[in-house]
Amino acid sequence: MALALMESGLSLRSISVSTGINRATLRDWRDHPEKAARSRPTCPRCAARPTLPEPRDDYAYLLGLYLGDGCISVGGASAKGVWKLRIACADAWPGLIKECIRAMRAIRPDNKVMTLQRQGCTEVLSYSRHWPCLFPQHGAGRKHKRLIELEPWQRVIVNAYPGDFVRGLFHSDGCRVMNRVRRRWAGSDRWYEYPRYLFINQSTDILRLCGETLDRLGVAWRYSRRNAISVARREAVARLDGFAGPKY
Ligand SMILES: [Zn+2]
Repeated sequence: MALALMESGLSLRSISVSTGINRATLRDWRDHPEKAARSRPTCPRCAARPTLPEPRDDYAYLLGLYLGDGCISVGGASAKGVWKLRIACADAWPGLIKECIRAMRAIRPDNKVMTLQRQGCTEVLSYSRHWPCLFPQHGAGRKHKRLIELEPWQRVIVNAYPGDFVRGLFHSDGCRVMNRVRRRWAGSDRWYEYPRYLFINQSTDILRLCGETLDRLGVAWRYSRRNAISVARREAVARLDGFAGPKY
């Protein structure tokens, strides 16, 4: 489709806006049409024979980030049918911003990934026609006000890469904190510190997905509040360290 638009004489800029394909890629296709023919179909989900998005581990991670703290909205009035995926990343964790950019780029390699500085956080965003195909949980209103269910094809990926999925969830809406507790021992008070994980989300559906995936990974957890999952047992924390790890 992009090639047909180029033949129609439209500028690369306007084709880029309407297809969500970045200009460098379009220029490359214009100068080397054989590459465009070889390039993979633009979207694995709306292809005639849908396939799973690749790389699947990056998809599982990005899905976790999206469900935790992402949002899909209309890309802009001038760009019909283009959607914007935004994931808010705290400035305190530059490593996570880089990982988010990398995963987004891996899933939509033809779309440009940008960052936008906000108060205390960096928004990682990318425009594409296909974000709603890739994340069908997209819908009007806040996530906790609507039903969030994985599609069967998403379950296939999450079941194959549960560690990447919880990593995404904990990197967006979770944290690894030090707990201080006081214990009375041999007549005096002593303080003990131990790490634990918290995943806080307002959507009971997303909490349930997190809990189910922790079960699959053999990580013990419980609800510490209505909207929070806590992983506090020493072996469970150690096991989750292997998948999620502290933020960095
Ligand atoms: Zn699509």
